[in-house]
Amino acid sequence: MPDSLLIENGTVLALGKSCKVLPGHSVLIENGLVAKVAPKEAIKNFRGKRIDAAGKVVLPGFINAHTHFYSSFARGLTKEKPSKNFNEVLKNLWWRLDSALTTEDCYHSALIALLGSIRHGTTTLLDHHASPGAVTGSLGAIERAVRETGLRACLCYELSDRDGARTAKEGLAENARFIRQCHRQNDSRVKALFGLHASFTISDATMEKAATLGRELHTGFHIHVAEARSDQDWSLRHCGQRVVERLKKFEILGPRSIAAHCVHVNRREMDLLAETQTAVIHNPQSNLNNAVGIANVIELTKRSVLVGLGTDAMTTNMLEELRVALWGQHLRAENPSVGFGEVTSALFANNPRIAERIFGLRFGEICEGAAGDIAIFRYDPPTPLGSGNVFGHLVFGISQTEADTTICGGRVLMANRKLALDLDEARVNARARELAGALWKRM
Ligand SMILES: [Zn+2]
Repeated sequence: MPDSLLIENGTVLALGKSCKVLPGHSVLIENGLVAKVAPKEAIKNFRGKRIDAAGKVVLPGFINAHTHFYSSFARGLTKEKPSKNFNEVLKNLWWRLDSALTTEDCYHSALIALLGSIRHGTTTLLDHHASPGAVTGSLGAIERAVRETGLRACLCYELSDRDGARTAKEGLAENARFIRQCHRQNDSRVKALFGLHASFTISDATMEKAATLGRELHTGFHIHVAEARSDQDWSLRHCGQRVVERLKKFEILGPRSIAAHCVHVNRREMDLLAETQTAVIHNPQSNLNNAVGIANVIELTKRSVLVGLGTDAMTTNMLEELRVALWGQHLRAENPSVGFGEVTSALFANNPRIAERIFGLRFGEICEGAAGDIAIFRYDPPTPLGSGNVFGHLVFGISQTEADTTICGGRVLMANRKLALDLDEARVNARARELAGALWKRM
């Protein structure tokens, strides 16, 4: 990590509480954290590395609060059988693909997702991993990819009973081993949660084992919740309870836990999520693609649920996901004037709060003491830009340009659209193509 980095001549979109727009300001990063934000003239005698952001906007790096690196190898896959509903999508596509993954596939598919994230200014990711044929060591392989790309990631293995008792046991052990390792490392680049697939693939006995281990390890959980109506149907039929009630009973919910989706939760479940301070992650592109519905982000927010934004691996571009989140809320409410505050807060305010709980750093604002995680976009605003309309520029303008420079913890990962890593992107892609081709044959 360089000792210090100075980003100068840009327009700083500080975001966070101040939401200031600061033309001609410099951002000084020292020891991985923002040390100063000041007019250019105020920082003198600087001797470290400089980045010229003239004609560009400088903003906090994005956070992707729910994704699956392993699904990178599904791109272009044509063997998928037609699926009539969400459960068939799992059986016909994802469970066939993840079951055939090797440890090397896990590493390479993670690299592809992470490099794509750098290209879009995303610096922190919460991943949810499955590879039932290669459980043990899979999180270590993904961790290697995270470290080689210089990003921050929180990893977990998605425990499930769908592949039998032996694989479930391996899933419990892989989570526990990796969480213990992260506790020992105490490193703000790589963190862990306890991964669970979803309520409908986990028996009471396995849920109890996970809950007990999670408590012992003082960790939160990362689980898919009521993504499709079928999750609720299963829970009511087999457990006599709705999904969120069942998770509450097992003490899976809490301020360190992540409930992805929550498309089909009722008002009572929303209140339980709020009471337990569980973070709900909205993934609109995935929900639309799987035709499972659109989460009621407006009502969840009204009931004080902390709602963040993820991509569920549909993209590595958080601004693209943000736009779809907005259109989705419009369509859901059949009202083109709702949801803007809720969805922009999800990405720019709530994702940082969720990441802070996990990584222990300040995110989402360019201010003294915050993580030195920065995305720079080439953007010359064609209309007035100020603190009152910065989110409008992000949704409708900056989202239409490519990230120019990405910095994580003060380390430059990409500058002027060129990766600044020890990895050769063309070679990574070539090897990924070989591995994905072989994976498709095994499926
Ligand atoms: Zn997911």
